[in-house]
Amino acid sequence: MISVSTQSITETTRVMSRMHVIVHGGAGRFYPERSLNKIDPMSEAVEAAWEELVKGKPAEFAVVAALRIMEGDEHFNAGYGGYPNANGIVLQDIGLMRGSREFVSLLNVRRITYPSSVALDMMRDGRSLMSVWTHELMQQADAADEFIKERYGWVDSHDKLLSPHVLEMLARNQVEVGSSGGSHGTVGCVVCDSSGFFAAGTSTGGVNAKENGRIGDTPIVGSGVFADNEICALSTTGHGETLLLGLLSGFIVSNIRTELRKDANAFRHRPSLMEEILDQEFSELSRKAPDKGGGLIVIPRGGMPRYQCNSEMISIGYRTGTRNSVAESDSFIHLKTGEKVRRIEDLNQ
Ligand code: ASP
Repeated sequence: MISVSTQSITETTRVMSRMHVIVHGGAGRFYPERSLNKIDPMSEAVEAAWEELVKGKPAEFAVVAALRIMEGDEHFNAGYGGYPNANGIVLQDIGLMRGSREFVSLLNVRRITYPSSVALDMMRDGRSLMSVWTHELMQQADAADEFIKERYGWVDSHDKLLSPHVLEMLARNQVEVGSSGGSHGTVGCVVCDSSGFFAAGTSTGGVNAKENGRIGDTPIVGSGVFADNEICALSTTGHGETLLLGLLSGFIVSNIRTELRKDANAFRHRPSLMEEILDQEFSELSRKAPDKGGGLIVIPRGGMPRYQCNSEMISIGYRTGTRNSVAESDSFIHLKTGEKVRRIEDLNQ
């Protein structure tokens, strides 16, 4: 069972004023010297999201503030640092959803460092849209004002998104074809704002050397990303095809909804309930696909942020509290053994 500890949170904190941020920076294999590079940027991402919430911004703004930090950091498989596809180009997928049930998913985004900001801007006019990154969208970005180009991290050639870190890993054959790699993960963020509203976002370069045009689970609503104010919000990471075939997120959302129908405060009354659901659904995923899988972060309605994975590790950052005070905040790599690793010295204890 993997969960964020809730023990230090005071019961005097009113649930509806509680805010939560949880991010992931990918799940998979653990490479100490590389995976630990993610800790500081994950902490920064959590901080950036929290600042938005403290300012009273809606949950989706907080999600994008966190995603941008990780998309801009070469130690994550998103934005600058995304894996190239079979043609050597970083093609990214992003899904952003808010709990009032609107989403924007963009597939095969090119020459953009912060696809989450593009998705947020496209969401503002209130529609839901799943779109490939068309030639027209690329032309609009190419012709945009400098201010917009900067906001989106627009670059004039594909190779500018290939980071030295990724090139080195590829040169040393450290990433299998078709893997999203343990040290170098997809990024995701799930937020509950002070009004109890959810948002979730997931951003990825996909699996290494993917077939040109291939889409994984990341931008698919109900799989890589989901938010519904009445149920939960979640974000996944891992082998996209396996997560899609296993309907992992769908079963988890369905379980949460069933529990909430029985008791609207189920996750407050039984804090272990979310772990029970995650344990059950991840066991099922592992049974169906023993060699593949991934991880997930989730906040159920009325409950605390939780995470789970069936891979060697998942990288996590989170913060929970109110606008006036932080109750808990941490960033770490959670190993399957149950250990939480924050720095290399933790491994030698
Ligand atoms: N799920 C992503 C994909 O399959 C990769 C990842 O999360 O690591 O594209």
